[in-house]
Amino acid sequence: TTTPTIALVTGANKGIGREIARQLAALGMTVLLSARDERRGAQAAAELRAEGGEVIPLVLDVTDMVSVGAAAKTVEARFGRLDVLVNNAGITGPRSEQVPSTANVDTVREVFETNVFGVLTVTGAFLPLLLRSVAPRVVNVSSGVGSLTAMSDPDGRFAPMPASVAYVPSKTALNAMTVQFARELRGRVLVNAADPGYCATDLSEHSGYRTAAQGAEIAVRLATLKDDGPTGGFFDEEGALAW
Ligand code: NDP
Repeated sequence: TTTPTIALVTGANKGIGREIARQLAALGMTVLLSARDERRGAQAAAELRAEGGEVIPLVLDVTDMVSVGAAAKTVEARFGRLDVLVNNAGITGPRSEQVPSTANVDTVREVFETNVFGVLTVTGAFLPLLLRSVAPRVVNVSSGVGSLTAMSDPDGRFAPMPASVAYVPSKTALNAMTVQFARELRGRVLVNAADPGYCATDLSEHSGYRTAAQGAEIAVRLATLKDDGPTGGFFDEEGALAW
């Protein structure tokens, strides 16, 4: 028997994160289903376990250094390493408060706190455990809206979207951070960003045309890359995306 791959997904109690957890468990991984709310995480983990997956709940609020540190200590004590980290937790913030000229700067800070600094905190805390893995992978769940190429195209697919200085640039910053982690960790950890596409979840107020399960697929693919796979890239299910 081989030892199972240990994977951790943030914000996995619902939406795309929950589907990433489900799909990784279906591949035989031991999945740490992390959630900021203990009850919601336990509930989701119990549901996925009932489907046969090895899914363990873990409390982790990405904006709380104490919570992140405690979660890393728990994983170290129980498994001694981490093979896959999926930074999925994300928020949009109220749209009306992120129109550039009238933005509420506190809202912008809050969105960056989760979508950018949360990823930095979590990745930093779990990196020592990832470096004990024989094939460590980090997947940052980003968004196509964060592409500077796409957002600056006046005729492109994001042209009808209202301008945002919170959610949209938070994903641009996440993409840049992905590249910087990949540079530092080249040859040791494969670090990539995923665009799940527009999915029907609470975040999109269920307006997306894709299912959360479809959105999860690219993150799962990047979590299971072979050793010669890409690093420092940005992908959706069709392939590489422009920054
Ligand atoms: P949901 O709102 O359905 O789920 C978001 C998850 O993140 C929830 O589990 C939520 O927990 C969790 N979360 C929020 N803040 C924190 C925090 N501080 N600590 C830990 N967990 C937290 O959204 P989606 O599933 O749609 O989004 C998942 C990711 O996919 C996000 O990064 C999003 O930006 C990205 N994405 C989504 C798209 C879409 O169309 N849906 C498109 C492109 C990208 P809780 O239940 O406690 O609030």
